[in-house]
Amino acid sequence: MYTIILATPFLFKNHLRISLIKIKGGKIMFYGHIGVALAAKPLVPKVSVGVMLVAATAIDTLCGVFTAVGMEWVNTATSESSLPWSHGLFMSLVWTLLTLSITWLVTKNWKKSLVIAGLVFSHWVLDFISHPMGMGRSLPNDLPLFFDGSPKVGLGLYSTVAGALISEFGLLAAGIFIYLKTARPIDHIGKWAFAVLILMFALFPLTMFLPGKLTYLATFVTLLFLPVGIWMERHRRFAEKGSA
Ligand SMILES: [Zn+2]
Repeated sequence: MYTIILATPFLFKNHLRISLIKIKGGKIMFYGHIGVALAAKPLVPKVSVGVMLVAATAIDTLCGVFTAVGMEWVNTATSESSLPWSHGLFMSLVWTLLTLSITWLVTKNWKKSLVIAGLVFSHWVLDFISHPMGMGRSLPNDLPLFFDGSPKVGLGLYSTVAGALISEFGLLAAGIFIYLKTARPIDHIGKWAFAVLILMFALFPLTMFLPGKLTYLATFVTLLFLPVGIWMERHRRFAEKGSA
């Protein structure tokens, strides 16, 4: 079964272009962030993977909120964008520190708090490496350091289809591999709940076909990973390494 699960993302490779979810014409990484969240599980086995998935995709969820209310935008005609509130380096650090404060207040555990906050910031780091996501087209940089008018940065790994394909599904496969080694099922539900999660990952790109402003809601679907992750891990046990 695990072979099937590991092979699943590769079966979907032809859908890469839709796996990079479009928000108002801009593309966002998805599977790479998911892979990093899954891979972080051994660091803090007692933190639900649902929390980790939500943390790693939080910047995009915020992007959905800010574009919906008009604070951020992407112009599909010119490929110009304004994403400082979600994807600016400065605000990403603010969201990271906010997460660190909240998780510390809730858990009183530095290791858990640092890993969860680190996942929030990992989003910016991965986006910095992958943006701008031209995939064959040359696009302007879209990650601002501060707010509008500040320099925009990005190493542009996703300017080629090969770069995007290898990174996106490579990170996902690595994350799945590490997660499955860390969190073993104790019953059939534990086994199949992971397949449900994989199915959610696979179907998530379809949310880009939602009409009009509903596109913005696509990023909120990531919040569903929280209950599914919690449910799944009631039926899995974790490698004993690490006490957090
Ligand atoms: Zn992003």
